[in-house]
Amino acid sequence: RGPSRDELLEGLNEPQRAAVMHDGAPLLVVAGAGSGKTRVLTRRIAWLISERRAHPGSILAITFTNKAAAEMKERVEELVGKRARIMWVSTFHSACVRILRKESDKLGYKSNFSIYDAADQKRLMTLVCNDLDLDPKRFQPGAMLHWVSNQKNELRDPDDAAKDARNNLEETYAAVYATYQRRLREANALDFDDLIMGTVHLLQTYPEVRETYRRRFRHVLVDEYQDTNHAQYALIHQLCADNPEETGDAERVEAAELMVVGDADQSIYAFRGANIRNILDFEQDFPNATSILLEQNYRSTQTILNAANAVIGHNKGRKEKRLWSDAGDGERIVGYVADDERDEARFVSEEIDRLTDKGELRPGDMAVFYRTNAQSRVFEEVFIRTGQPYKVVGGVRFYERREVRDALAYLRMLVNPADQVSLRRILNTPKRGIGDRAVACVQALADRDRTTFWEALRRADEAPGLATRSLTQIQAFVAMVEELQSMVDAGERADVVLESVLARSGYLTWLEESDDPQDETRLENLAELVAVAREFAEDPLAGPSADPTDVEAGIVAPGLGDFLERVALVADTDQLPDDDPDDQGVVTLMTLHTAKGLEFPAVFLTGLEDGVFPHSRALGDQTELEEERRLAYVGVTRARSRLYISRAVVRSAWGAPSHNPGSRFLDELPVDLVDWRRTEAAQTQWGRPDLASGSAARLGAPTAAGRRNFSAAAVRADAAARAKPARAIPSLEPGDRVLHDSFGMGTVVALEGVDEKTVASIDFGSEGVKRLLLRYAPVEKL
Ligand code: ATP
Ligand code: MG
Repeated sequence: RGPSRDELLEGLNEPQRAAVMHDGAPLLVVAGAGSGKTRVLTRRIAWLISERRAHPGSILAITFTNKAAAEMKERVEELVGKRARIMWVSTFHSACVRILRKESDKLGYKSNFSIYDAADQKRLMTLVCNDLDLDPKRFQPGAMLHWVSNQKNELRDPDDAAKDARNNLEETYAAVYATYQRRLREANALDFDDLIMGTVHLLQTYPEVRETYRRRFRHVLVDEYQDTNHAQYALIHQLCADNPEETGDAERVEAAELMVVGDADQSIYAFRGANIRNILDFEQDFPNATSILLEQNYRSTQTILNAANAVIGHNKGRKEKRLWSDAGDGERIVGYVADDERDEARFVSEEIDRLTDKGELRPGDMAVFYRTNAQSRVFEEVFIRTGQPYKVVGGVRFYERREVRDALAYLRMLVNPADQVSLRRILNTPKRGIGDRAVACVQALADRDRTTFWEALRRADEAPGLATRSLTQIQAFVAMVEELQSMVDAGERADVVLESVLARSGYLTWLEESDDPQDETRLENLAELVAVAREFAEDPLAGPSADPTDVEAGIVAPGLGDFLERVALVADTDQLPDDDPDDQGVVTLMTLHTAKGLEFPAVFLTGLEDGVFPHSRALGDQTELEEERRLAYVGVTRARSRLYISRAVVRSAWGAPSHNPGSRFLDELPVDLVDWRRTEAAQTQWGRPDLASGSAARLGAPTAAGRRNFSAAAVRADAAARAKPARAIPSLEPGDRVLHDSFGMGTVVALEGVDEKTVASIDFGSEGVKRLLLRYAPVEKL
């Protein structure tokens, strides 16, 4: 017995219901943030299964992250029961991997191919530079990878790139692309972009394969459609559009029913090839399309929406839409102009304390957003000091830690010995006397006989010039790997293989015997990895992309290959804390990009300075500036009831303090929405006329309310202590004792520069020696 119609439509407004019940032609749901697009998409899946009797296996739903996929699957399961488990709800990448595992032979890959992430790609690109004798200063791996990625997102192969090269530089890039692809192929590896491009290529080249998947997927649903790139668009097109010009021997299958939902104002991944035209041109691309507009927002207060509408309204050439909410005006937005980034972090921390002390919110209800990953550091420092538990999403992730990467490299090499990048990574880790010379000898053998590096290792006795001692070590290594491989071939569980790897390779002993305290943490991380593998081995179905038919067919097993795949596809936002209602949770720190699709009762939007956000790169470029503005719109609309905006007058980037004017996005906010707790003008009153010029005007004159609040709130003890009236630059000499607001007591070691430019080096003991610009530093001579 399934849910009733009423249950399926409950909690939906009229246009939302229409979208859920829509039948037939391609459907586009365009709507601003928080208007229930994701909810509608989820509900529609349940509707298809329950009311339209669609087989769950005929549904393909695409989300932006694995976590979003898992949530969506869970929701649908709640509604229609366990049979929903068979649906494919996943990211583009996961869906493509699953198709490619079955069909990779057609592309000349073995089905045990490795998936290279950014770090693997960089290593491989460095090898490519060597191959081609390129000057690594002129041809930086990062820049070349970016270029290659763009080509792939546009579905252009190395030949296309070579044909269109207009100058020497582009010819070199095309050659790099070709060599990089050859190297990937030799390693039986695909990078992330290849997953999509390869699948499109497969469907375009093999009509019978395309028809197989068209027959299988009768319903395709895509969330966050505004951030699809050309390759992803082409993939959808293959499955869902009638392409009369494509004739083949295979019998034509009717196109799948398509639903996409998105918001052009939230397109924020152009730098990764996302194409806003995909959503804008949907009605042209799918001529009989229907579109539905949602306008009521259920996430935020009207105040927050007014702010969001006002900011995004400054973008040109967009379809005007007015979001409204009946949640009431709610609280005003709180603004704060900090002296520096430390002061900003302190403000955020105090505000979090206040909200939790009052019992109004739990730490897990709050998120701090910033433009770039590096900005998390100062928040972390302050939170550690105040004992505020937090979690950083992005940054150095678990799976990027050295020891975790080493362990995974072992596993990947066992599954796919052609995977050079992994093999070379662990060949001498831990150290086992196989040095660069030995590697060069083996590589020479591989080149001579045109075999893989692994084959050459196995035949190392034939390698010219290899020292006997190295040969013995290599043979021992090969014997160990082969023994481990036999476990994998026997279908041993992922966790069991992992534990054997760590023991047999000597990795654990190596860490255990080390006296580097960091190695203790490394051991803990490896234990965590074993636990992840165990969890997977015990329930390979738990997770976004598992499909019971695949398990029955032996395609998903608790074995190693599938575990590696799951790990390879973990995305940035997948490490968000799970929503446990009993849990107080922790404050989340994340970049604006990773915040897409999420919501929090309280949001702190920090670093609102021209040059930080909008990013300096975007300041002179209208197109990029509009993308930054969409990012601001995404940030503002994550907040449900409370929004804080802040900026720092002085920010130290790379050690050198810089004075950034307020973000132009602040000027775009209607003044009456914001309650400035502390403004630059206020600071000026406290004796900093030097800082007022130029940027004070940006904030407008402080409003009456702002001034009132200023006297109430700005005189917080620490603010008062720092912002002394008419503060002069303290005259210091080496040897003087000083007191700094955050670093504590210190001794002046050296002074450079004069007057406003005086920089003091001060030794703060355990905090280290800091170089401080005295004009801004909150130090006092004792
Ligand atoms: P975004 O553009 O940020 O991805 P969205 O359009 O996908 O947002 P949802 O996340 O689906 O919006 O919905 C926003 C919030 O509003 C969620 O908390 C959702 O549960 C709630 N919501 C959506 N529709 C309704 C409704 N008709 N009644 C009550 N709440 C709703
Ligand atoms: Mg959404």
